[in-house]
Amino acid sequence: MSITADFHIHTAFSEDSEAPMREVIESGIAKGLTHMCITEHMDINWPTSEEFPNPGAFEVNTDSYLYELLKMRDEYEGKIKILFGIELGIQTSCLKEIAAYAKSYDFDFVIGSSHLVRGMDIYWPEYYEGRTDEEAYREYFESELENIKKFKNFDVYGHLDYVVRYGKSKDQNYSYEKYKDIFDRMLEELIDNEKGIEINTAGLRKGLSFAHPHIDILKRYKELGGEIITIGSDAHFAKDVAADFNVAEDMLKECGFKYYTVFENRIPEYKKL
Ligand SMILES: [Zn+2]
Ligand SMILES: [Zn+2]
Repeated sequence: MSITADFHIHTAFSEDSEAPMREVIESGIAKGLTHMCITEHMDINWPTSEEFPNPGAFEVNTDSYLYELLKMRDEYEGKIKILFGIELGIQTSCLKEIAAYAKSYDFDFVIGSSHLVRGMDIYWPEYYEGRTDEEAYREYFESELENIKKFKNFDVYGHLDYVVRYGKSKDQNYSYEKYKDIFDRMLEELIDNEKGIEINTAGLRKGLSFAHPHIDILKRYKELGGEIITIGSDAHFAKDVAADFNVAEDMLKECGFKYYTVFENRIPEYKKL
């Protein structure tokens, strides 16, 4: 396996994971990783639901998280490099709060992600009700574009076509071509601002035929001159660390990429495939 850096990982500090950080790290070492960047959830203004009734459920206690991470970093020194990351939920309704938070810690790496549209969790079936999937997907992609235009303090934008996981027809009628007008603007905006994207292999575990984003988007990113791509399992369980990294590697090679990217202190470094 030539990809040895997992840059999207959750542990028990995220509301939707119970995985102890130590187990997650041990799993990474067992799988031959050299770098792991933990990226807990920080989603400000998360709507409460039956599943997650606590207000602020997706706002990580960053001090506790950092304390544990520094302890693990010391303990595993020489075995694996552990980096301090965050998956920051972007919403235009709270840009000031998000910006203030992003500045308040010395992260190694920040993923910007869209999990909510109009304050609705797009994981809820309600988001798709009363309209076609195409309309729902389009609204999600438009909102990502708006987020990318209005917020810049991130390194890569996460799981670009995440919405496809939850639509009624999932990826059956989905293609890059259908949303080319929005994707191209999104990719151009990212490239102009020296931002990257990630290959997020969780799509494969969520019943999709591809890892996010669809390979045609990855190809387009390359065509337009994009170079920054991190690889993340989006693991919420120790066993899923580095899952399907062989698929990510094949995708990169198929698109003609010779490198993938890791970050430290928000600075990208390129690793040979
Ligand atoms: Zn996410
Ligand atoms: Zn995630």
